[in-house]
Amino acid sequence: MPRATVARIDMDALRHNYRKASELAGDARAMAVIKADGYGHGIRDVARALQDDAPKFAVACIEEALVIREAGIRVPVVLLQGPHSPEDVVTSARENFELVIHSDHQLPWLAGAEATPVLWIKVNTGMNRLGFSPEHIDGVMSSLSSAGIVRRVTGFVTHFACADDAGSDRTTEQTECFLRAVEPWPELAKSLGNSAAHFHDGQALFDWSRPGIMLYGASPLIGRLGPDLGLRPVMTLEAELTSVRTLKAGEFVGYGASWTASEDTRMGIVAIGYGDGYPRHAGTDTPAWVNGRRIRLIGRVSMDMLAVDLTQVPDAQPGDKVELWGRHVSVDEVAQHAGTIGYELLTGVTVRVPRVRE
Ligand SMILES: *Cc1c(COP(=O)(O)O)cnc(C)c1O
Repeated sequence: MPRATVARIDMDALRHNYRKASELAGDARAMAVIKADGYGHGIRDVARALQDDAPKFAVACIEEALVIREAGIRVPVVLLQGPHSPEDVVTSARENFELVIHSDHQLPWLAGAEATPVLWIKVNTGMNRLGFSPEHIDGVMSSLSSAGIVRRVTGFVTHFACADDAGSDRTTEQTECFLRAVEPWPELAKSLGNSAAHFHDGQALFDWSRPGIMLYGASPLIGRLGPDLGLRPVMTLEAELTSVRTLKAGEFVGYGASWTASEDTRMGIVAIGYGDGYPRHAGTDTPAWVNGRRIRLIGRVSMDMLAVDLTQVPDAQPGDKVELWGRHVSVDEVAQHAGTIGYELLTGVTVRVPRVRE
């Protein structure tokens, strides 16, 4: 029997969330962002589940895009970091990958290629990771024009730095900066919004939005949980109780003896730990779920195990299933307890955990 630690992946929930993104995007079309192995859910399965709905996919790098093609899926794929080499340009033209061009050093690779893939031009509106400065866009377009490939440019992209904070003025400032920068090319598409931007009142998403985390049912907004935003959790991370015991008052559990029972306490050991991607920083009181009840972690998470307080579920037995996050406990809540974000937890589930499609 294999260990019962699994990540159950609910494809109906994924499709529900994509439809929600499309609705919120209004007149914009939503390219489904499925980088980082579909945010940890398995890029092949995610791409298969969305291929009839999503008109485009977006990933970080060409290796991810090639996995989509190897799965027999022909939907156009946008490479959000563009080419890393001249060969990437050749492969992209062949495979119908669209390149986000963000830097001068990529331009000669395009000019030198026999065939030119569809291109997006990235505008740096303040994030200061990737992109051409607004005053440089004209120069980039001229140089593509001289190379005879400007007609391959389909649109402009930018990325928000503070969209997770719905009240931040920076998103408006970045939007205005972007619109000024691309004004001379009204015929080209505009793409600005990540998941969070779908939830901002009055935020225009123009032609293409780029939802990622919301597709998986986790919240893109600080202090909010996915289900409160109408999203359905796609991943349920589940493991079994492998041992149950009663600690006497004064006894402790786990490394560092960081939690001591103040009274006799029924507790369980769950077969999952940071070696599976469960965050070690999730401390005592992080929620979990067993037999229809919320329980809490106690003590320190180890590599292959963690401990839970079973006071609330006296009937819990070895073999009972524990939900670490999913339908009853939002990954966003666990992330808050661990001092991180749902993105990191979902993408961090390790290869030791089989993904089971439902
Ligand atoms: C990852 C990424 C997205 C998706 O962001 P979410 O916050 O997950 O919706 C959108 N655009 C770019 C450029 C990205 O890198």
